[in-house]
Amino acid sequence: MAASRNETVRHLVANAPISRDVVKRFVAGESTAEAVEVVRGLGLPVTLDYLGEDTRDEAQAERTVQAYLELLDALHAAGLAVNAEVSVKLSAVGQSLDEALALTNASRICAAAEQCGTTVTLDMEDHTTTDSTLRVLHELRRSWPWVGAVLQSYLHRTLDDCKALSGPGSRVRLVKGAYAEPAEVAIQDPSEVDLNYVRCLNVLLAGEGYPMFATHDPRLIEIIGERARWYDKTDFEYQMLYGIRTEEQRRLGTRVYVPYGEQWYGYLMRRLAERPANVTFFLRSLASR
Ligand code: FAD
Repeated sequence: MAASRNETVRHLVANAPISRDVVKRFVAGESTAEAVEVVRGLGLPVTLDYLGEDTRDEAQAERTVQAYLELLDALHAAGLAVNAEVSVKLSAVGQSLDEALALTNASRICAAAEQCGTTVTLDMEDHTTTDSTLRVLHELRRSWPWVGAVLQSYLHRTLDDCKALSGPGSRVRLVKGAYAEPAEVAIQDPSEVDLNYVRCLNVLLAGEGYPMFATHDPRLIEIIGERARWYDKTDFEYQMLYGIRTEEQRRLGTRVYVPYGEQWYGYLMRRLAERPANVTFFLRSLASR
């Protein structure tokens, strides 16, 4: 995780041509055109993330909005928009500057998505943003009831949030959670996080919304299948990250979360940190050329 903040390592990775294959495994490219080509090649439903996190710069937030508008146009022009929605981090469109600005910017992306016949999901970031993100979600859903939320099973509050968001029309992506969070707000024991995931998935499957189960965990995937049969629920989906368990993605017909954009470095380092086998894969490919 330290490497994701280390400028020397970033420079090395970004400038080594041999790293490109590794980057390409997890990131769809830097440009809109490259992202669209990856979507075309995948042949699975996707949600696209224009990489870039917290900004306090209004001009940078505007560039992110423009990138999403350009992407939606390109997907529409390529006839791919129906199966390609977008994932938006509110921090990248100005949340830490001003919640109202983030709402305005997210609204512009939602309006464009609606024109293209697709949808938007708001990624969930660290716990200091949860209330603000859910407030913005609530406002967006007044105009676009299909806007999706992400809930993280590591947070103590999440079972209640699942109950609140399990009504008709609601789209909720359930994840374990990707940020280092303190014990006051988050469960620390990984097996307890999994248990809470199961409690939450039961609530979402019993509800009237559209659950989106985003996990690579084979045990949870099996439980989701069993519980869906138990609740007789067919309107839900699985989601996985681009480049991870690709065979399983095809078997399940998952929606694939496809990140792209120039700011791929932090994202890639987090994926490598999550799983030692990915680091081995990375080092082997560095050594083999
Ligand atoms: P883990 O506990 O990481 O892994 C469980 C098991 O899955 C492993 O033991 C292994 O068997 C298998 N596995 C995991 N990785 C691999 C691999 N590379 N190859 C083979 N098997 C593997 N987090 C947020 O906080 N906010 C978000 O908005 C958000 N959006 C997401 C969207 C999607 C589509 C996905 C898939 C994840 C998202 N996440 C998000 C990240 C999430 O919170 C987790 O950090 C991440 O998914 C890892 O947790 P996991 O459920 O896959 O299980």
